[in-house]
Amino acid sequence: MRLLIAQMKHETNTFSPVPTPLARFSRGAARPYEGEDIRAAFKGTGTAIGAYLELAERAGATMILPVAGNAAPSGPVERAAFEYMAGRIVEAAAQGCDAILLDLHGAMVPEGLDDGEGELLARIRRVAPQVPIGIALDMHTNLFPAMVENATVIAGYQTYPHVDMYDTGMRAGRPIFALLEGKAQPAMAFGHRPMLPHVMRQSSLDSPNLEIQGRAKQMEKAGTLAASFFVGFPHADIPYAGSSAVVVTDGDAARARRECDELLDMAWAGRAKFVYRVEPLEASLKRASEIAARPVMLLDHYDNCASGGTMDTMTVLGAILDARLEDVAAFAIFDPGAVKKMQEAGTGANVTLSLGGKLDMPALGLKGKPREVSGKVKRLADGNYRNEGPMAKGEAVSMGPSAVLDTGRCEIAVISRHTEPHDMGSFRALGIDPAKKRYVMLKSRVHWRAGLGPLAKAIVECAGTGVCTSDYDQLRFERVRRPVYPLDAAAT
Ligand SMILES: [Zn+2]
Repeated sequence: MRLLIAQMKHETNTFSPVPTPLARFSRGAARPYEGEDIRAAFKGTGTAIGAYLELAERAGATMILPVAGNAAPSGPVERAAFEYMAGRIVEAAAQGCDAILLDLHGAMVPEGLDDGEGELLARIRRVAPQVPIGIALDMHTNLFPAMVENATVIAGYQTYPHVDMYDTGMRAGRPIFALLEGKAQPAMAFGHRPMLPHVMRQSSLDSPNLEIQGRAKQMEKAGTLAASFFVGFPHADIPYAGSSAVVVTDGDAARARRECDELLDMAWAGRAKFVYRVEPLEASLKRASEIAARPVMLLDHYDNCASGGTMDTMTVLGAILDARLEDVAAFAIFDPGAVKKMQEAGTGANVTLSLGGKLDMPALGLKGKPREVSGKVKRLADGNYRNEGPMAKGEAVSMGPSAVLDTGRCEIAVISRHTEPHDMGSFRALGIDPAKKRYVMLKSRVHWRAGLGPLAKAIVECAGTGVCTSDYDQLRFERVRRPVYPLDAAAT
């Protein structure tokens, strides 16, 4: 059996100024992983592609591994990067294979296209019209019809934080093997609801997504092959941004339709609970200063790099410094130039830096605003580690050259590659123990809960500045299909 396995993952924030060249998919290397390097990188990891490799190995399949690229969320994908990765996959498919298993995100917006995944799949279908295609998708998929029309099986994450990437690979892969063995005949149904849930209200640990994902799991326990509700990614001004669902059954199209509609109806009924209410920053920090338990997590959620944030806005960190909060760790400011200056100064040196604020945010009409910060270079590091889990356990991560700037009150992590703090490894790589701090500032919205959630004694959400703003009024939506809740009263 010949099995094509590939990864091409990106969540595109169309409001983000952060560029997305091919190098962003390559962890700093010239090109993304290919061939045997893919096996070495992902075998045994808690990822969808890790699950595919395991399924293929168990089946004794010959593996065709054209490309595995995964970029941190950012602005539209450079067309050449998309063409390179899609080209490799389509070329490999054209050589012939028995099945294709893809680890995709489902919200890729290449330059000049709205739907990178749909385009990839349509191209594959042209060279391999009959080959079964299984796809694992992120819960933040913005589902275009072309994705479903050109796939055989779709399974999406059922957790946010995403701690079930591996399971999702299994849920997408197993029905494809069952089909090849003549034991199943997948039937898919999909649909949408016109709603843009706020990311801050999307966690599967909270209502209403907790109940919706619970129901999807029940459907699978009762025999449905894969049931997925996608909250959607709202920071994308494209027609199909927002919530959707896909259900795959064994040959029962009516049941797939019924269950898909049930998940969508649950989401629509819970739409008001998906709306996030913003608290002014000053009030948030005042509240934080009155909490005795430690550590208190201060979430700089407008600038979450795992949703395309520049990770260098200084509003929240600046307010923390101005409020003279004591015993703070801040993760992290993306500023390769500042790291370089700290490297040049050396460990133990006192430095004054113009920190962060290097990127303008034209979509918000804002210029980048650095802030002068003085402190001691506490540590320099290469920024490499492996995720301790539970999210993407075992996967190698590179924050690039990194440093810790200690102001006396605040230890500020400064990194050179966008990395969301969802894993203890990112702190350990810099010698910071967040459990021992009074305050931990995180440029994160929900994923931090995967690895750091158990530490938190209190959580204070801090509205700062950034392209992941939870205030939709700051974003100019021009292409998303209307009406859509909560932007339009007509959608209520
Ligand atoms: Zn996601």
